[in-house]
Amino acid sequence: MQPAKASCRGRAKLLLLVLVLTTSVPGCFQLGKPPPAAQTLERTEFMMDTIVRITYFQPGQGAAVEKALAAMQEIEEKMSAHLDTSEVSAINRAAGLHPVKVSSQTLQTIMLGLEAGRLTGGAFDITIKPLIDLWGIGKKGDYVPSSEEIESARQLVDYRLVRVDQEAGEVMLEKAGMAMDLGGIAKGYAVDEAARVLMENGVTEALINAGGDIYVLGEKAGGNPWRIAVQHPRRSSDYIAILQLRSISAVTSGDYERFIDVGGQRYHHILDPRTGRPPGELVSATVVASSAAMADALSTAVFVLGLEPGMALLRSLPGVEGLVVTPAGTVIYTDGLKGKVEVLRW
Ligand code: ADP
Ligand code: MG
Repeated sequence: MQPAKASCRGRAKLLLLVLVLTTSVPGCFQLGKPPPAAQTLERTEFMMDTIVRITYFQPGQGAAVEKALAAMQEIEEKMSAHLDTSEVSAINRAAGLHPVKVSSQTLQTIMLGLEAGRLTGGAFDITIKPLIDLWGIGKKGDYVPSSEEIESARQLVDYRLVRVDQEAGEVMLEKAGMAMDLGGIAKGYAVDEAARVLMENGVTEALINAGGDIYVLGEKAGGNPWRIAVQHPRRSSDYIAILQLRSISAVTSGDYERFIDVGGQRYHHILDPRTGRPPGELVSATVVASSAAMADALSTAVFVLGLEPGMALLRSLPGVEGLVVTPAGTVIYTDGLKGKVEVLRW
């Protein structure tokens, strides 16, 4: 679901994007609640071009965890723009030609992506692929495209030219040459689906981490919130903040995941559809919301929008909170995170 293999530096850092801090489980429990589990169990799988890890506590829940991972795998197969056999690739091949019938999951993700496009004034745009391919971060070495190349790719990026027929379950890109890339939202959607599968199978306490797209189910045993560490954007083995969260998603986008350095300038994998270039006002943006898909799209959008417009967007959306980090190391967060965030040393 990622457009590019991570650059050699990016790969190792991605794994550390968000780490879960485990605290010891208190020895007492309330009547009516299951006894705290004695162990922390983990299942890890490489998919969607990242490490997916599910943490859980009851040994009997292994089968539910497998089902959740299988659901994520299926989503990747449908939505990856890098697999010729995916539904998204079929849509891309039919750009300017004809509509393509897709699964309800793909339709739902595309509709969420378009909704994110509208909410963010196009800062999030699922038709970004011509620009992503042009830059080819992590694929084309130190290549920086010319202004002319950027301008012509930019002409093909416009989420308003995605036609959806909900009844028929069909999607079409109206202009030839357009192409869809759900890399900024499908991982979040997969995390939401994994959470749904876990809950349907009786899992009430678990953590899903897909390379920094997090969903916490319930709370840690003993009634404590989960402690989720946000990676330090410039020191890969360090954290910039810790969030205390219950039953919610948190997703971070940053400029340190996949990038190239050319002439002292950093070019990374998130692009501003309005300029066709990587934005530089923030080094990371974290969004907390009940939907991981929305949090995923919004974290990318806030990163694109930059400090003031990004924070204004977060404040305008009910049920959405967030935290941004500037290149100078300043951490700014929405009021709803007060008392739930601990900012660490830059
Ligand atoms: P990651 O998936 O690496 O954690 P993001 O969630 O921020 O990071 O998504 C970045 C991916 O989203 C890119 O690799 C690309 O596929 C896509 N993308 C980049 N810029 C945009 C954008 N402005 N709008 C929508 N998708 C984008
Ligand atoms: Mg995203």
